[in-house]
Formats: sequence, C-alpha cells, structure tokens
Amino acid sequence: MLSIYPILCRAGIMDNYAYLIVDEASRTSAVIDPSEAAPIIAKCNELNIKPQYILNTHHHFDHTDGNLALKEIYNCQIVANIKDSHRIPGFDIGVEEGKTFALGASTAEIIDVSAHTQGHILWYFPQDKVMFTGDTLFNLCVGGLFEGTVEEMYQALQKIKSLPDDVEFYPGHEYTMHFAGEALSLLPHSEELVKYIQRAQERLSQGLPVAPITLGIEKKCNPFLAAKNLTELQQIL
Ligand code: FE
Ligand code: ZN
Repeated sequence: MLSIYPILCRAGIMDNYAYLIVDEASRTSAVIDPSEAAPIIAKCNELNIKPQYILNTHHHFDHTDGNLALKEIYNCQIVANIKDSHRIPGFDIGVEEGKTFALGASTAEIIDVSAHTQGHILWYFPQDKVMFTGDTLFNLCVGGLFEGTVEEMYQALQKIKSLPDDVEFYPGHEYTMHFAGEALSLLPHSEELVKYIQRAQERLSQGLPVAPITLGIEKKCNPFLAAKNLTELQQIL
C-alpha cells in the first residue's frame, strides 16, 4: 500500500504539486517531481522520512529544480525516462514505456505520453489504482504542447482513457479553477461538472488539493478527455 502526501510548491506562483509517496510494506519512499527543495525537506522532516528515490514525469524546471539539492541531502537516486537522460538534473536510472519500476513492494508502470514534452511519462501504480500525471493531465484540462502535436496529445489521452475508471490521478499543478470556466462553457449541460467544481471550491477553501479525482469522473468532466475524436480535440486545444 502506498501513502501519498501532496506538497504544494511555488505556492501562489505556479502552484506545483510534488508528492512524497511511501510504500508502507517496506517503508521505501520517493518524491515525485520535486519542484523546489525546501517544502519537501520540511515534509520529510515532519514525517521522519528519507526518500530513496526521485521520480520525474518530465524535464521542466518546475518539476526538477529540487532534484540536485534532495540528492545531496538524502543520497537518493533519480529515475526518469531514459529519453530524458541528458536533461533531467542528476539522472541515475532510466525507465521507459512497457517497463516497470519497483518502489519496495509497490510497482509502477511507465506510460509514455509524449506531447507536453517529448519523453513525458505517467507513473501508474495499478495495485493502488493511483497515477501521477505531471503536466499531461490536470483537473479539467491538459498541459500545453511545448514539444508535441495535437495528434500526440490525442494519442496520450487515448492511453489515459483506456485505464480503469476507479484509478485516482494526482496532477503536477493545482489548476482546477483556472480551467473551470472554460470547461463549463465547453460542457454546459454537465451536472457532474457543476458538482465537480463545487467540490473543488470547497476543498480549496479548506486549503486542500482538489486531487485525487477518479479517471471515471475526469473522463466525463474534462472536455479534453471527453473529446470523442481528433477533430473534436483540435477544435478546443
Ligand atoms: Fe511542464
Ligand atoms: Zn509544470
């Protein structure tokens, strides 16, 4: 079983989420996308955890700037797509689509969703039914196309849509309310979306992340996942 601790980084500026995850069976732990070191060190101290790994979704600075400082302190190993070995700070271990990575007794499957960047991966833990989606899937939106095409994003979204509805996802930013208005204008008749946004506002007003949301709900409420074909996606992306 995995325990998951979201850590808000660059609060009020980019609102990144890093995640400290712990495989409880072995107490093996990892930091996903350390945007900056300080808030992660604070959380590790609070929980008395020394992470053995850093798992990156993609190379952007707001997901990797904490890599080297954390590696220095915890002597952890940095795991990322082998394709990004040249541009992930402190890169140690390469993974790729179709391969798995063992975090103690928990196993991550690697899903390549190159579109936001080439080499962007999802970290999917099927036994725990959780997935870390970086800048590919946000609540109610998807990441911008820095290094990929709409076609590539469409393919990436098809991979996500093929996963079970009860999988919960954890995105790389708290962007829910940035896109709520646009989602409502694209899906004006969705009662489920109205409920989604109400719940999001309640969570945020309590200082809580909107995540996790199940893929089943996201497939219905996120207009980019709901797009039925490439043409529909092209019209809104
Ligand atoms: Fe990014
Ligand atoms: Zn980002």
